[in-house]
Amino acid sequence: MRVKCSICDKIEQIDDETLTAKRLRNRPIHTYMCQECHDRIKVKTEARLNTGHFSFHPGQKTKKDKIKK
Ligand SMILES: [Zn+2]
Repeated sequence: MRVKCSICDKIEQIDDETLTAKRLRNRPIHTYMCQECHDRIKVKTEARLNTGHFSFHPGQKTKKDKIKK
């Protein structure tokens, strides 16, 4: 099947039997991303995680303070 990358608009041909093709057929809302864009986003995400500014539990301290009387 022919798929279009939602980011760079590149048209690619993918095998109908791949997991990506099946997913796109079942859920048309699922947009396709080419490998190039996929890799670019992955690098960006990893770079952000490595800055150390990312917090998994924002506001946890505030919650504790509220419980204390
Ligand atoms: Zn792309």
